[in-house]
Amino acid sequence: MTSLQDCLTLDAQDPLRALRDQFTLPEGVIYLDGNSLGASPRAAAARVAEVVQQEWAQGLIRSWNDAGWISLPQRLGDQFAPWLGVGAGELVFTDTASINLYKVLTAAARIAREDAPQRKRLISERSNFPTDLYIAQSVCQEYGLELVLLEPEEIAGALTDEVAICMLTHVNYRTGAMHDMAAVTAAAQGKGILCVWDLCHSAGAVPVDLKGANADFAIGCSYKYLNGGPGASAFVWANPRLINRFWQPLSGWFGHAEPFKFVPDYHPAQGIQRYLCGTQPMVSLSVLQCGLDVFTAVEPLGGMEALRNKSLALTDLFIALVEERCQGHGLGLATPREHGRRGSQVCLTREEGLGVDGKDSGAYAIVQALIARGVIGDFRKGDGTGLHKDILRFGFTPLYVGFEDVWHAVEHLRQVLESGEWRKPEFNRINAVT
Ligand SMILES: *Cc1c(COP(=O)(O)O)cnc(C)c1O
Repeated sequence: MTSLQDCLTLDAQDPLRALRDQFTLPEGVIYLDGNSLGASPRAAAARVAEVVQQEWAQGLIRSWNDAGWISLPQRLGDQFAPWLGVGAGELVFTDTASINLYKVLTAAARIAREDAPQRKRLISERSNFPTDLYIAQSVCQEYGLELVLLEPEEIAGALTDEVAICMLTHVNYRTGAMHDMAAVTAAAQGKGILCVWDLCHSAGAVPVDLKGANADFAIGCSYKYLNGGPGASAFVWANPRLINRFWQPLSGWFGHAEPFKFVPDYHPAQGIQRYLCGTQPMVSLSVLQCGLDVFTAVEPLGGMEALRNKSLALTDLFIALVEERCQGHGLGLATPREHGRRGSQVCLTREEGLGVDGKDSGAYAIVQALIARGVIGDFRKGDGTGLHKDILRFGFTPLYVGFEDVWHAVEHLRQVLESGEWRKPEFNRINAVT
């Protein structure tokens, strides 16, 4: 049995404890949704003011050169590259995860069409994040591919010579289950299949080694564990061995070899820079840098290994406390217990029929009741078949979540369940964003 005192001791011994001060979080809030929208770095507000009042208001157009705006997407890419196991010049922050996925899937589809036109399948996971599947659907339409959706345990057996592209999200948004990137990539490439990885729930949360895994393409957003701010630019990476082969379908001038020559013909820049399309959002990118700077501050404290150790300790503790203290309320665990298969979140299921009037699972209302108490997680709807159940989702960002937070979060959950306060009508009205 873990006590509150034990949690306080764990916080006192935590080498990453001081990093919490680098974030602005509201008083009285336990924030377990950093996997959806990361917290605001303390430096962000002043940085916005500086960019708006100095670089923009005073510097005006000169800031493209003088404030280094023109190279910011590349510089941020270089700054974060080591956290993904890639080199400088290989990564840029630009556009959104959805748009970057469109670019790399199109490039992969083109390569496959050239090398192996008889391969007609793009495989992915049925419970992949919907935007990934929607983007894949349009790429499949354009390139005459068939999108085949699988359960995770079916993937290994589906890597056949009919498959052109395997597109997976490393850590599943609904369950927190993590693929073995190196093993899946090796198995797929052994069959001549290109591998595209979505790192939205991995970047800054779990160890990633794209070069070590020899992945082909990767994308990910930066407003989750990277704390880049709402709608912050996503990243995109292509393996340098594909340097002369990856195609940019959105052939805008920022991806041109010489944008300021203003020539009428498109000639793509060498390397990842071609994945820029048009003018980049400087205020937003500048704020994103505040999020990435926190990671730079983690390096002397043990880097990703220290983050990962703390993340696993937090999620282990949450699972143990829920199982000790919240029994008898129809909760289950969707997230793998095995460390090697777990991201940085814990997802609890709830049985259908346990909601108000037996209508649903009650998971949504429980999450709302927790939010009203200042414990912010989120809800992800099941598919109604029982295969993918309703989920109460709790993200643990080791940069700012502590062990005492975990204790109190579970205590609130226990009280919400025991008191039945989640049954109140105001917690059962569905908001636009869940
Ligand atoms: C959050 C998330 C996205 C978001 O895509 P946007 O283009 O930033 O809206 C995409 N894919 C996955 C797997 C995600 O978790």
